[in-house]
Amino acid sequence: LETKPHGPVKPVRAPHGTALSCKGWQQEAALRMLMNNLDPEVAERPEELVVYGGTGKAARDWPSFHAIVRELRSLENDETLLIQSGKPVGVLRTQESAPRVLIANSNLVGKWSNWDCFHDLERKGLIMYGQMTAGSWIYIGSQGIVQGTYETFAEAGRQHFGGNLEGRLIVSAGMGGMGGAQPLAATMTGACFLGIDVDAARIEKRITGGYCDEISRDLPDALARLNAARTNGRALSVGLVGNAADVLPELIERGVVPDLLTDQTSAHDPLNGYVPNRMTLAEAIRLRERDSAEYTRLSMAAMGRHVEALLALQARGAVTFDYGNNLRTQAKLAGVERAFDIPGFVPEYIRPLFCVGRGPFRWVALSGNPQDIYRTDRLVLELFPEDLPLRRWIDLAQRKIHFQGLPARICWLGYGDRAKLGLAINELVRSGEISAPIVIGRDHLDAGSVASPYRETEGMLDGSDAIADWPLLNALANTAAGASWVSIHNGGGVGIGYSQHAGMVVVADGTDQAARRLQRVLTTDPGMGVLRHVDAGYAIAENFAGTAGIHVPMRNR
Ligand code: NAD
Repeated sequence: LETKPHGPVKPVRAPHGTALSCKGWQQEAALRMLMNNLDPEVAERPEELVVYGGTGKAARDWPSFHAIVRELRSLENDETLLIQSGKPVGVLRTQESAPRVLIANSNLVGKWSNWDCFHDLERKGLIMYGQMTAGSWIYIGSQGIVQGTYETFAEAGRQHFGGNLEGRLIVSAGMGGMGGAQPLAATMTGACFLGIDVDAARIEKRITGGYCDEISRDLPDALARLNAARTNGRALSVGLVGNAADVLPELIERGVVPDLLTDQTSAHDPLNGYVPNRMTLAEAIRLRERDSAEYTRLSMAAMGRHVEALLALQARGAVTFDYGNNLRTQAKLAGVERAFDIPGFVPEYIRPLFCVGRGPFRWVALSGNPQDIYRTDRLVLELFPEDLPLRRWIDLAQRKIHFQGLPARICWLGYGDRAKLGLAINELVRSGEISAPIVIGRDHLDAGSVASPYRETEGMLDGSDAIADWPLLNALANTAAGASWVSIHNGGGVGIGYSQHAGMVVVADGTDQAARRLQRVLTTDPGMGVLRHVDAGYAIAENFAGTAGIHVPMRNR
């Protein structure tokens, strides 16, 4: 790797192949995944060490990056490297089956846990924003958000449409960085999708990238195309240039009721994210520069109108949900008292999955060889032939998702199945069918690894939304079980002070020791999700714990 203390001479890319540059595969995996996070194909602003999600970084600064690389290369198989907010601060002798790296990013004592204190400490060079998988070295590019959106739509389909979204109409707004995954996720489920965005360039970008099929500038035209596709049972996505606060009331006037309805505009930011209605985008941009207070006032009013339209369509039968962008809060501030009659997506669709330990499971081929991932794809289909949405996802992901950096795959799997797949992958590495070890990890947005009262733990049955003991216990359990690296973060997804979460990664290198680690970690980790939801009183989790033989000391509340 050619780099200088202030930054890379040429882009950072993970080594490929089977040759080790470290003293074991656990260390090598951490090294390659750190570098992969900073690969220009993967990271948003690699020169600043920013991987994704605003300012989520992989290392605090370039000297820290170089020091981490150096330490990983010399780390023994019974040592553990400690990372404090992206900087290596020590190496301790532990034991062979302990994690090789322990990471703590962005954590602040409660009273100080806000952006002001964080920025003050960041200016002093003492802390780093780690987001979720940026500072814990297991980000895999946009495949993650496509799959999460697919899983949400698929679960909505299971709950409301008998598991079949063919011929159904999904309507949403916002075709930006994250929202742009919606058209592809929708057509992957077999549905038709209308995506409203004020900015034609955003829609065009999704068409160029293969995420959206067509663009339209006229609602009747868009609806005609979608209706034709629905009649033929064909999946189709159309991006409509327009403002959601204008287009949704027009849908009501035309008597069109979507089957599923949501939103991914950047409503969390009324000044720089959301665009007020009844004006062109160019007019809005000029107003933003000229009079930010007036812009914000109009933007808030538009969000009120937007949510009133969502509520009206909900009343007419559209299955409507909030998609984690804080639109409900803004509408409530704008005077829409019933804004929270729209449910959040986690309580509606994700929590039942969390109750059985199901969540975003991912793995990466350290060889850099796509064939290794295609072999794992076949393995998934062999192991879980009855899971039709999973089969559909793997088929479509192979055709539609381009690898970024080291080849990777994501799919949602639950308690039991994760360990089964991890052990089977380890066997393929052992037999040489897969050419080099596979790294197995997950997003921090998972069943038992996050406390985030406006997102993952919104509206918990027992009111335990803000209790952060669970992600901390999750990290401790995975450390005890022998993950390859474990991390504890604050603030990912929703900002400093609003969430506490933990990550884990475990390496399948084909050895007996790896098999023992995989069996333990891939059981303790989703097991925490089941326990967290049993404790909160969810019957699905309680029944599942009984069937799966998970011991809960005080089950009867
Ligand atoms: P982005 O800023 O890249 O895109 C937002 C898009 O909304 C832009 O294309 C913009 O032109 C469009 N827009 C703004 N106002 C509009 C209006 N009134 N009508 C129509 N279009 C309008 O943001 P992103 O990365 O796509 O994220 C979108 C939102 O989703 C954010 O608030 C983000 O925090 C949230 N989010 C949720 C999850 C989740 O897990 N559900 C994940 C990531 C992001």
